Amino acid sequence: MKAEIIAVGTELLLGQIVNTNARYLSQGLAALGIDVFFQTVVGDNTARIRQSIDTARSRADLLLFTGGLGPTMDDLTKDVLADYLGRGMVVHEPTLRTIEEMHLSRGSAMVESNRRMANLIEGSAPLENTVGSAVGCAILQDGTRYVLLPGPPMEMTAMFEGAATRWLMAELGEGEPLHSRILRFAGIGESRLEKELMDLIESQSDPTIAPYAKEGEVAIRLSSKSADEAAALERIENTAELIRARVGAHLYAEEDISLEEAVLRQLRVRRMRVSVAESCTGGLLAELITGVPGSSGEFLGGIVTYTNTMKNKLLGIPMEQLEGAGAPGAVSESTAALMARRIAETTGSDWGVSITGVAGPGTSEGKPVGLVHIGVARKGGEADVFTLNTGGSRDMIRIRAAKLALYRLWLKLADC
Ligand code: ATP
Repeated sequence: MKAEIIAVGTELLLGQIVNTNARYLSQGLAALGIDVFFQTVVGDNTARIRQSIDTARSRADLLLFTGGLGPTMDDLTKDVLADYLGRGMVVHEPTLRTIEEMHLSRGSAMVESNRRMANLIEGSAPLENTVGSAVGCAILQDGTRYVLLPGPPMEMTAMFEGAATRWLMAELGEGEPLHSRILRFAGIGESRLEKELMDLIESQSDPTIAPYAKEGEVAIRLSSKSADEAAALERIENTAELIRARVGAHLYAEEDISLEEAVLRQLRVRRMRVSVAESCTGGLLAELITGVPGSSGEFLGGIVTYTNTMKNKLLGIPMEQLEGAGAPGAVSESTAALMARRIAETTGSDWGVSITGVAGPGTSEGKPVGLVHIGVARKGGEADVFTLNTGGSRDMIRIRAAKLALYRLWLKLADC
């Protein structure tokens, strides 16, 4: 199957936002064994969207759209495609009910444009939106497959990984069903993972081995097409076993869950709780953890001690540790260790996790951009400190640091 990704949105053409969805979808499709030959960006304009569909149809058999499913008049993708395919629009009742209930619970009046998000191209399969409101669509017509995903990255990734992947796998397996398993890794970059598995990847045929990267994490999808499910699953398991033998220490899940979810599960099983103290990540670690529903059972809380004064006032780190001639400084292994121990003590958590580093763009305390120390302390015990030396933008450094902190905690939990 040859795919073309069509990102719809004038903001993209004006350079106001970066087309990160296309990057993610290219990797996601590769992981399903689908070749992406073209990526297109088109503005919110009926004639030009039609023109892109015409062109894409001539060179691809899967057209994957992102953007333009929202409620406003410039959200055109569904209407234009319905019209192009000569189909009407029907209401997806479950989505409409969800939108109505949401308005009812918020006490806000529902306007006509909100209903647009429940529209479904006649005859298409609905793609459930687990994060937002607009329902996606998938349809096969005249040998071409069309998949419509929302623009907001969180909604798009959830829909792609859920309903869209299920639909695509059923389509790919036409005749023969496609079986697959996802392996999720942390604490290892995409290139190192590929290097470790290079010979397996190069000689792959069945199952296919497709790595793809999310920020701070890497996943591998193993897929095998066969009418004989047991045989396909056995081939997948044999390959998974080879992978586990090489990079098993980084394999945190063999299902579609995030690293933060995996950590919270480990804590739940052990009836343990964690608190965090962050500096350069500014609350990102707490944000990732609290993004998982039900995290309050295992996450007591976190503080952002960005300045030395706050590290001193809120965590009791001595000023002579943080500044002055000969002091280790805020970005140091010993400060990371102290922060982790103090946050565990102060909150009474079983675990304290800390992050202190230089997210850039400028250096700090004469220390280089991308240097981050992560502390993981068990209540009443010493802290282990891990050092990250990474490159990239400020955002990338922060997400990598937060994910590495989660990975180091996950390793400690697996061990206790
Ligand atoms: P909404 O309900 O928010 O209108 P939508 O499906 O109509 O969703 P758009 O209106 O096209 O999507 O985009 C909404 C937001 O999603 C944009 O402002 C932008 O922040 C983000 N977004 C859209 N397309 C992309 C893309 N290709 N890459 C990254 N971000 C995107």
